Amino acid sequence: MIRDIFLTRHEDVGSAWRSLRGQTDLRLREIACVGAPRTLLLAELGDPRLPVVSISAGVHGDEPAGVWALLSLVRDGLLDPRYSYRLWPCLNPTGFDAGTRENAEGTDVNRSFGRGGNSPEAKAILTANRDRMFELSIDLHEDHEATGFYLYETAPPAWRGSYARPITAALSAAGFALQDLTPDFELGPPGAEVAQVRSHGAVVVDATREAPFFGGALPLGLVLVRRAAPCALTFEAPRTRAPDERIAMLRVAVVEALRRLGGEGSERYA
Ligand SMILES: [Zn+2]
Repeated sequence: MIRDIFLTRHEDVGSAWRSLRGQTDLRLREIACVGAPRTLLLAELGDPRLPVVSISAGVHGDEPAGVWALLSLVRDGLLDPRYSYRLWPCLNPTGFDAGTRENAEGTDVNRSFGRGGNSPEAKAILTANRDRMFELSIDLHEDHEATGFYLYETAPPAWRGSYARPITAALSAAGFALQDLTPDFELGPPGAEVAQVRSHGAVVVDATREAPFFGGALPLGLVLVRRAAPCALTFEAPRTRAPDERIAMLRVAVVEALRRLGGEGSERYA
């Protein structure tokens, strides 16, 4: 499966998730995209009374490693059972099939979450998430320019950036390269640097200060931390590396984020 991720289609993603239903208590639903002939797969896992973690992948159609990493995390039982999960296996099905960043209408879905949603996909996600609160939000991406892994930790001001260090340390400990985020490495819209604190492999973002630079074309993470989650993590696997390595990096990052959420990891890296 992993060997062929560039050849897979969205229907393969759907059938791979459906094949997991017997193995776990996975609940699958198709969420309608109003005004577009497509649906988004939504997977829920775990006891709904537990605190909820949101994990999504594939909002950019040309970043398949996140899609297969998320599936493999569920398949291999790596999601911490102390939480329940709201999982979006592939947020941009038409982009995934076309191998494009944008959806079929040419919209960058991850710049369409402002004002209730400016794409069929964003509208569907925001409607389905209405009144939901999350302990943490994680979005899986790939970066075409990067040679190492990096992450965005996005939260309101006064956030201490408590995920960045343990996660980058876990990646290093597993033998993976981290991206050197020098000032010339582009992260978000022009000007947004004033809202970012960069370190090796991580950028901690002040959501309140960064949002205006997107001019209403907001990414999912920024919208979630406004009302629905205390922190949004965006993981970026380096597209220049082999697919298996990118998937492995994203898996390590998700597992470590959940450990950190559970209060572990802080001593190790203090
Ligand atoms: Zn992306």
